Amino acid sequence: MSLSVRNLEVSFRTYGGSVSAVRGVNIDVGEGECLAVVGESGCGKSVTAQTIMRLIPSPPAEIRGSVTMDGTELLTLPEKRMKEIRGAKIGMIFQDPMTSLDPTMQIGKQITEALTAHDRGMRRGDAADRAIEVLGMAGIPNPEKQFRRYAYEFSGGMRQRVVIAMAIICRPRLLIADEPTTALDVTTQAQILDLIRDLKTKLGTSVVIITHDMGVVANMADRIAVFYAGQVVEEGRAEDVFQNPSHPYTAALLLSRPSLDWDRGQKLASVPGTPPDLFAPPAGCGFFDRCPAAMEVCRESLPEFFEAENRGGVSHRSLCWLHHQFGKAELARWISGGRGLEGPGRLR
Ligand code: SF4
Repeated sequence: MSLSVRNLEVSFRTYGGSVSAVRGVNIDVGEGECLAVVGESGCGKSVTAQTIMRLIPSPPAEIRGSVTMDGTELLTLPEKRMKEIRGAKIGMIFQDPMTSLDPTMQIGKQITEALTAHDRGMRRGDAADRAIEVLGMAGIPNPEKQFRRYAYEFSGGMRQRVVIAMAIICRPRLLIADEPTTALDVTTQAQILDLIRDLKTKLGTSVVIITHDMGVVANMADRIAVFYAGQVVEEGRAEDVFQNPSHPYTAALLLSRPSLDWDRGQKLASVPGTPPDLFAPPAGCGFFDRCPAAMEVCRESLPEFFEAENRGGVSHRSLCWLHHQFGKAELARWISGGRGLEGPGRLR
């Protein structure tokens, strides 16, 4: 399986004007790979995922660019063919399991519905057997009994497992998990992440995991795409991004995690300011107003993607002028000055 998103742009027409939620996103996901999509709320992560699934109605959305899966363009595919792909080839775990499940329907019926929609000749008994098997795989104890229960009878963690069972019952080649652990306590979070990792290994499924939690990313990802203000601002192998963040926003995100080595009373760093108004996106870098390393060029010109490093033939790229040949001296100064929110400040 290979998924390729190219120059994806999604904007929404509203009474207040047109808001550009996704601005020229490029991402790739390879066979059996886990890509973590990271970024703060409203940066375009979920809109990108829902556009890949063709869940955003257009109009009112305006969608441009290309999304191909194994060479098939999804954005222009007739809806009938897209229905064959949705669920069967691409499964999605939504953010809130309570609103993703029908409270009036037994969970077993909801799960088998996904199966019989794609295989109309399948006998009900066979579909039920498969659903019970998948509920077991998703870590639901005593699945034969749980099959006839309703969503309200389950805890948050169990409901999330049901949603995962629904997403994987057709053995999709790609699983998109949109903040799958947001509403869960840390123990259940760890169990759900183990489960997704297990499914990836056992079924060879490629995974796109969307999160704002760097701990989740460290646990799961082969590669990371960092989103900011509707754009991918950094992309590379997980270990490269963690060890050597090349965009100031990523560096700031990593600095805002607590550490066990901290002194008592040490304050958590935060990124000052707010993201730009996407009703009127800036001409230059979207992080300009918050960036401790900003230069004059950043205000006026949108940076290109520059290669920050290349280890073993794998590129680590950043949408930042600091990696332009003329910005490298500023980068060196920024790094030697402490690299981060407490860095040398504006380099203008
Ligand atoms: Fe943006 Fe410039 Fe800061 Fe890079 S250095 S993140 S281009 S403002």
